Amino acid sequence: WGAARQCHFCRVAECLCYREEGRHIIIRMSSEGEKGSSNSDRSTVLEESRKLLARQKELLQQIEERQRTYSDFTNKKDEYSEPPSAELNDLVEKAGKPVNVTPKKTTGLETSAPSSGRPLITAWPAPSTQKSGTRAPSSVKPFSPSSAAPSIAPPVNPFVGPPPTPAKADPASGSEIGQTARTEVGHERAPDVGDTNSVQAVASPPLAGPNVMNVIVVAAECAPWSKTGGLGDVVGALPKALSRRGHRVMVVAPRYSNYLDAWETGIHKRYNVSGQDLEVGYFHTYKDGVDFVFIDSPIFHAVASNIYGGSREEVLRRMILLCKAAVEVPWHIPCGGVCYGDGNLVFIANDWHTALLPVYLQAYYRDKGLMEFTRSVLVIHNMAHQGRGPMSDYAKLGLPEHYADKFRLFDPIGGEHMNVFMAGLITAHRIVTVSHGYAGECQTREGGWGLDGVIRDHNWKLRGVVNGIDDIEWNPKLDPCLQSDGYSNYSLETLATGKPACKAALQQELGLPVRSEVPLLGFIGRLDNQKGVDWIAGAMPWMMNQDLQLVMLGTGRKDLEEMLHHFEGCYRDKVRGWVGFSVKTAHRITAGADILMMPSRFEPCGLNQLYAMRYGTVPVVHSVGGLRDTVKPFDPFTDSGTGWTFDRPAVSGLTDALGNAIWTYRDFKKSWTGIQQRGMTQDLSWDNAAQQYEEVLLAAKYTW
Ligand code: ADP
Repeated sequence: WGAARQCHFCRVAECLCYREEGRHIIIRMSSEGEKGSSNSDRSTVLEESRKLLARQKELLQQIEERQRTYSDFTNKKDEYSEPPSAELNDLVEKAGKPVNVTPKKTTGLETSAPSSGRPLITAWPAPSTQKSGTRAPSSVKPFSPSSAAPSIAPPVNPFVGPPPTPAKADPASGSEIGQTARTEVGHERAPDVGDTNSVQAVASPPLAGPNVMNVIVVAAECAPWSKTGGLGDVVGALPKALSRRGHRVMVVAPRYSNYLDAWETGIHKRYNVSGQDLEVGYFHTYKDGVDFVFIDSPIFHAVASNIYGGSREEVLRRMILLCKAAVEVPWHIPCGGVCYGDGNLVFIANDWHTALLPVYLQAYYRDKGLMEFTRSVLVIHNMAHQGRGPMSDYAKLGLPEHYADKFRLFDPIGGEHMNVFMAGLITAHRIVTVSHGYAGECQTREGGWGLDGVIRDHNWKLRGVVNGIDDIEWNPKLDPCLQSDGYSNYSLETLATGKPACKAALQQELGLPVRSEVPLLGFIGRLDNQKGVDWIAGAMPWMMNQDLQLVMLGTGRKDLEEMLHHFEGCYRDKVRGWVGFSVKTAHRITAGADILMMPSRFEPCGLNQLYAMRYGTVPVVHSVGGLRDTVKPFDPFTDSGTGWTFDRPAVSGLTDALGNAIWTYRDFKKSWTGIQQRGMTQDLSWDNAAQQYEEVLLAAKYTW
């Protein structure tokens, strides 16, 4: 190499050549250089350039993600009118400083996505500034839309005015005693702690690095906008954890009511469902690093208070519409100005409701040589619901005739019928279920509900990943539901005072005698056969002979709801049966109870036992599925374990376990505190689960 940046080899001033492993790599060639170069030199150069570009692209993506996370966090931090709690402060400090880069202006972003409604460019004004820290040199090819990280301009539609300020739910308002079968659909946004979730992003896990992908999670419910059970919680939390690892993540769910914090994109499409053209609109919001896209249609609004309500045909119609609209989202919705596209893309469908999505992806695109690099993963949250119907329903799905066999199942339960879940399981590139225990159980006759054979045939692509919990939403130290009416936030350090305060407040609120020494048992969940409510009923005579208190919160089967009222009427000084769906009450029971019962007949994962342990409430559970995976039985000899489990599927199994728990609560206080502390200090975070999901996404990506 000469003094004037001239290499001896090609003898060009400002030569950009470099050496690698003793070889001379020509980057820019003069005419002499060209003469002297061989074809192999050219291919090496091309190869090296490609690698360099790939590395730059990756780096830029990571920088943009970090920037986005940080700016999101600082924006929200500024919103606090009061100083945040000590824990928030700790987390804030961990944030460190952002990469010091100057934001650059961007040109208007164009999208090729067609719109049957208003033009995209006007509906989605290009962001005026981009948070991107660095920009590739001009010689570097621009990113393709599918690989570019999104900017975070709020999707303001000039036709509908500026987005309204998201309303904050008042956790202290609204009691729902006596309500039946209520769905949590954007009304009682209980703990509005989602806004602090960005704080969690600060202590972010390692980035996915080269494994970073575009992920679209599709589900029938998503907390806090819509929730009837664990599925809503998972869809509200897993995407945030994936985003914290650096993935670009979107959630697609129906818009069941007028969500105040999601805005119209101006994009409208029509889909044929059961021979009828239905128009949908797309709404969007960006929260905690995740794009949330809501599919708007009158058929979703009609079931706002009971999202799985209506006849079988009506439910199927809604799910067809959801899946058809969702599979096209990567082409039509330019989140932050850029559509996801199909590169490096994986869909995560959830339960039978969205099991049509992998099939539509295959039939409408992949079979036609399109979206060839897009993959689908189907998550089983509950095998008991499968989308069964007569084979004559198949015509409504809008699929080619040769797909019919994927839907046709003959089993002792349903005879020959159409099974939507089965087609999704067969077609998806990978299957996840929500615990290791359930991954085994759903392959058995008892646990497979007729699909055990199908799962066994496809168990090569099945993996169990235990759900995590949203550590901000369910955190006794931050929980806003514990900030009024005598409740108190607490942590491991203040367990001895904070939890008794919550117990007294709960007893007071429910009108039970305020007694600190009496064990207070809780139950929260759907009132149906799965949750073992009838075993609790069977255990009632035994329980009422003990000095204890019992509070049950649930909605579901009418006879079981009436049973709750009946028990409350019979044992006014001991029992409270709260029929309704109230997130705030669920939080308060979780904090105030000493013991949480979960005698489920089967339980794919279960979240309440995880929340209970996080709150120092000791779970007593039937040893099945996710309950067996997550609750370690107490062993007095080694002083280990986090609760009690029972194997015998009978009332006596429950009463034996409860007897031991109550005995320990009364007579072995030190052991009890140990159980509480071990439960509270476990790592139950979604970050751990998200890493395992990422492994599944990668496995799907490399499946041909
Ligand atoms: P499921 O089988 O219903 O999904 P999970 O234990 O996985 O059961 O999750 C149930 C979720 O729904 C938890 O967040 C729980 O607190 C919540 N939940 C269940 N019933 C009620 C209710 N009546 N009121 C409020 N929250 C409820």
